[in-house]
Amino acid sequence: MLNFKNPSSPADGYRGRFAPSPTGPLHGGSLVAALGSWLDARKNQGKWLLRIEDLDTPRCILGADQEILRQLLACGLTWDEEPTWQSRHQERYKKALERLNELQITFPCTCSRQSIANALEARGAVTPRNQEMVYPGVCRPHERPKYKEGNATLDEVAWRLALPPDLTIEFEDLILGQQSQNLNEEVGDFVLRRRNGVFTYQLAVVVDDAEQGITHIVRGADLLNNTARQIHLQRILGYGTPSYLHLPLVLDEHGEKLSKQTLASAIHTENEQQALQELRKAARHLGLRNLPDGRATSIAEWLLAATQAWDRKITFS
Ligand code: GLU
Ligand code: ZN
Repeated sequence: MLNFKNPSSPADGYRGRFAPSPTGPLHGGSLVAALGSWLDARKNQGKWLLRIEDLDTPRCILGADQEILRQLLACGLTWDEEPTWQSRHQERYKKALERLNELQITFPCTCSRQSIANALEARGAVTPRNQEMVYPGVCRPHERPKYKEGNATLDEVAWRLALPPDLTIEFEDLILGQQSQNLNEEVGDFVLRRRNGVFTYQLAVVVDDAEQGITHIVRGADLLNNTARQIHLQRILGYGTPSYLHLPLVLDEHGEKLSKQTLASAIHTENEQQALQELRKAARHLGLRNLPDGRATSIAEWLLAATQAWDRKITFS
């Protein structure tokens, strides 16, 4: 039996984190997530950890991790423990997948995106642009295959998690309130490890948040849709569920979320004044008002005032 670490109890105190993917330098949107999670941790006398989510190597940019570290430091957003890189923890994700395989709730899948799209279309299901396809169950076996370590054929397939029927997950978001998602209807049996051997964000984030004893997850609302399936994974793996707080997204003039795909530009942090400007913008987005705005304000002073002002009362516009 594998030994899985249990999540820390509330008595251990608040442990938050910022978990950027190194797909480019921080932009206005990612700074909001960094600042929001940092303020929430500081306000609660908690720890703030930094984890670089670099499993999806084709999307990672060489050196972006170091640039993100540099930008955070320039903004005074300091972390409390050694930063970690997901690419260095493959063993953890492998163990978690093996555990799920032992429980016989996974199955191999060789479907292409196209074959899934075709199956959905045949059922008259329409997937709106930018939304992931709900896996239509095309190759879900009636009997669960037994996974054997080192079996080459099984290594060249994707591994999906078989959901129990009619699974609705409910959770409370610290800002948005009660949330509910039916995983079968809105997600389907999701992928844990891709065909190319890469563990997915869903699996890795759950394993790492538990390994690092994270008690509070503060992140952008673009990830809200992932939370229910992450809670489901936590429950099966015997981890506790942290508190969740999703922050309003920064949208560009076309109403799209800022991202590398929409060519969001990097924040400017070459000097303290520039960094402070970026922090002020992020703070306005988080609904923080009446922070020191004089030119003589230092970042340290400003962050202290922002921490005092932080109250989790953000209105989503
Ligand atoms: N790495 C993810 C991203 O940059 C965030 C993960 C998380 O906060 O759960 O979108
Ligand atoms: Zn399949």
